[in-house]
Formats: sequence, structure tokens, C-alpha cells
Amino acid sequence: MSAVVERLRELAQIGRQEYGIDRALATPAERAARKWFVTLARARNYALTQDPLGNLFARRDGTRAGAPPILVGSHLDTVPTGGPYDGAYGVVAALCALEMLDDRNAQTEHSVEAVAWAGEEGGRFPFGCLGSSAFAGIIEMQRALALVDSEGTSLAQALASKEGGLLDDVPARNGTRVAAYLELHVEQGPVLEAEGVVLGIVTAIAGQRRYRVTVKGESGHAGTVPMAQRSDALCGAADIILAVERAATAQEKTVATAGRIAVEPNAPNVIPMRAVFSLDIRSTVDAAIDAVESALRDSAADVHARRRLHTSIERLESRQPVPMDPKLRDCIGRAIDSIGQRAINVPSGAGHDARCLAQIAPTAMIFVPSVGGRSHVPDEETKPEDLEVGVEALAASIAEADKFVV
Ligand SMILES: [Zn+2]
Repeated sequence: MSAVVERLRELAQIGRQEYGIDRALATPAERAARKWFVTLARARNYALTQDPLGNLFARRDGTRAGAPPILVGSHLDTVPTGGPYDGAYGVVAALCALEMLDDRNAQTEHSVEAVAWAGEEGGRFPFGCLGSSAFAGIIEMQRALALVDSEGTSLAQALASKEGGLLDDVPARNGTRVAAYLELHVEQGPVLEAEGVVLGIVTAIAGQRRYRVTVKGESGHAGTVPMAQRSDALCGAADIILAVERAATAQEKTVATAGRIAVEPNAPNVIPMRAVFSLDIRSTVDAAIDAVESALRDSAADVHARRRLHTSIERLESRQPVPMDPKLRDCIGRAIDSIGQRAINVPSGAGHDARCLAQIAPTAMIFVPSVGGRSHVPDEETKPEDLEVGVEALAASIAEADKFVV
């Protein structure tokens, strides 16, 4: 069994529950995963550092003194009932790639650091990509540390605790200068598998807007109010959701999901008076998201005119698409050629730490296939041979990026 496969099996035991893996930020399981990472890095004499949020770095030295490092990594935390590859693969693969450079006696001008970003999933403390956001200056360190979980524990408290806290014997990190950032991740979607290709070079990380849509009508007796006189909030919500579906389908590489709906009074013999649903629109093209949002607003106006319903649309979150660095993508392309593999360009529908790092350094991502496109579930799977090809592509990409970045 190759190192990457063996280690991912080992790591999957940390935080294992009856159903899936649970490693939320600053819990005992997540801390144990960080310690496990430290043990592996120490075995190769990589210099370890951590920052106040628990981002963890293992450095393989470069030859040029003072050159900023190339960072390579992902995250060790999981969603509740998570699987063994999301995030974990990118961290383990980064270490394996560093070791591969060692074993080949390959020197790099830049230091290369394997990074485990803290709290990517945002499950416990309500902020996604927390560690990489703080590192990139998107959220202030103090604000991040003040975030509170559902039990009322602040991140600062959790990171000061014995159970989930910072590691005792790892020195503090100084500086956030970065020459480039590379992240290898499982695709979490079905595109690579469908195309029969093992490697994807990510073009952009999709932008995302999230909304809460509330449709208000009038309730009444399900038997006595004639159809023409109804203001049925659920029927209006259905109209709007289908209009959004049509609009998203008409755009390229755009998806829209109404994943949750609540109906009041939610009784079989009462006309619904209120329907509240969530809407999530994503695309790598901002104008496409605009177009779907206009369809949403037009449809709300339409159900007002036709059904006498009042709709309010709250935008809860808006993130711009983040293109990956073209030159770094070219480096990855050449690296993949050099190991005799083939890659296609793919967008990333999911958010990743790379989205944050792209704010401060040239950034690019590589995907390997997810079996059945499934992820964020205990039985997410990537074939062992694909995991291995990913590590090789990553090591070659580091070597190639080292020649190009400043
Ligand atoms: Zn991830």
C-alpha cells in the first residue's frame, strides 16, 4: 500500500464515530489529527510552526535564503459524519509530496510548507475557511478568536484548552508572505469520473449567493375556498423555485438549489399562508449569478401579480467567483504532462481554502475524481491509484511552480 493510502486510512480512525468521522475545529479529535501530522513531519525533520488559530505548517527548506515559501495543503477538520478524503487528502498528499522531493534529492529554491488549515468546514464556529481567512487577512484574528460555538465556548477558549487547544511543543509562526499556494482536493462532484480522466486543473472557485425567501399569502379552508380566489404561499414558492431552476439551467456552469422549505401552518386541510425557503446560487461567472437573481426577482413580481402573494428576498451571503492564477495553472499543466498524465479544466462548485489564499498569492488547485461524485458523506471514495497519481502531480507541480514564482 502506498504511503498516501495507508496514512489516509490511519487518519480516518481519528474522530471515527459509529457513522462517519467527526473532527470539528478545536475538539479532541481534531487536535489529535494535528498531533498525528506533527509526528509525521518530525520524522522527516520538517520545521513545524502554528499560528494563533491552529493553522499548522511543516517546512522543507529551500536553497534561497529569504525567499517566501510555497504553501501546499488543505484542512484536517471534517463536517459531522464526514468522510476520509475531503481536506484530509490535500494535507496528507502535501506531506507525501514533500517526502517525494526528499527521496529524489530534489532541491527547491523556495521553502515548501505542507499546511493544515484550521476550521475549513465552519461547522462548529460559524465561519467557513476560518483558518485560511484569518491567514489571508479576510477576517481579523481577534474577531475569529471571538467566534462562539453553540455551547457558548469561544474559539479563544477552545484553543486554550487542553482537549482541543494549540499544540504545546510547536513554536509560533511569524509572517504570512507566500510565493504561491497549491491545493490538491477530491473533486466532490461527478465531472472527472464522467470524463474518464484522473486529474482536473481548477479554472475558478465558484461564487455563491445564499438567500432566504419568504412568500406570504392567505390561509383558508382547503375545501371551501375556490381555486381562483386563493393566495396559496406554497404554490407561489413552487413557481419561484421552478423559475429559478429554469434560469440556472439556461446559464452555463451555474447551479441553483432550494434545499430547505418550511410551510405554515403545514396542515393537510389548510391553504398554506407562508412558505420560507433557502436558495443557493453558484457559478464561476458573476453575471450568470446576476441573471438567476433577476429571474428570482421577476418571478416574485409575477406571483404577486398572478397570485396576490408578497415575497421578501433576503440575501444572506454573497461571495464573488475566484479565478485561479493562469500562470500557476500552466505550471500544473506542464507538471502533469511531465508525469505522462492527462488533465481537463474544471470549475470548483465547492468553496476551498484556496479561495482565501488567492487574495494574497498566486493560487491554483488540482482535483482527483470522487467515486459517484459523492462527498461530505462517510462513504465518499477516491480510488487508491487516483490518490497516488494526485500526489505525483502535486510533487511535479511544486517543482514546476518553484521555477516560476518569485
Ligand atoms: Zn475540503
